[in-house]
Amino acid sequence: MNFLEEKIVTDGIVKEENVLKVDSFLNHQMDIKLFEQIGEEFKRRFSDEKFTKILTIEASGIGIACITARYFEVPVVFAKKSKSINLDGDMYTAEVESFTHKTTNHVIVSKKFISEDDKVLIIDDFLANGCALQGLIKIVNEAGASVKGIGIAIEKGFQPGGKIIRNLGYRLESLAIIDNMDSTTGEILFR
Ligand code: 5GP
Repeated sequence: MNFLEEKIVTDGIVKEENVLKVDSFLNHQMDIKLFEQIGEEFKRRFSDEKFTKILTIEASGIGIACITARYFEVPVVFAKKSKSINLDGDMYTAEVESFTHKTTNHVIVSKKFISEDDKVLIIDDFLANGCALQGLIKIVNEAGASVKGIGIAIEKGFQPGGKIIRNLGYRLESLAIIDNMDSTTGEILFR
């Protein structure tokens, strides 16, 4: 088991409906030493890539993206969730269905912050069905920039997102891939 898998086993809580609660270290209270290990590991796995920007989505991707950015020395842009659709054309937009809240958000990124020469590393905390990633990929493509890598902390491998994104040809690195988890026993099986 790697450092993140160990942390998930110790402090993660398996909830019903395929939700893993990690709010004691990842997306409410944040364990910054762990985030540093995550950033370092992404840097190691993508050591052959030259990124110009990290893109993530609010809110829970932001912390990991910021610490990871220290290792790549690039700026972080986060897609904002917005109720209204901007009509004056200065934003890239995508629709993203929230896995945890079962609602649809418009996410927006100002055209000022991604340009066609950007080589983007997309970072997020979880990968489930892949909606968040597909929204972010759409935004990068609309900007004419390229997605050079995708870094995920926890992929739930029993849900379809990882397969969809890999089949599209993207370089996806997930630090912990869960193949099975059981809310009655609390058991977690990693790939
Ligand atoms: P997807 O769009 O891939 O279906 O879901 C990814 C997003 O949903 C992530 O940004 C994350 O915030 C949230 N998410 C998905 N699964 C889980 C989970 O099991 N636990 C938590 N805490 N968040 C999740």
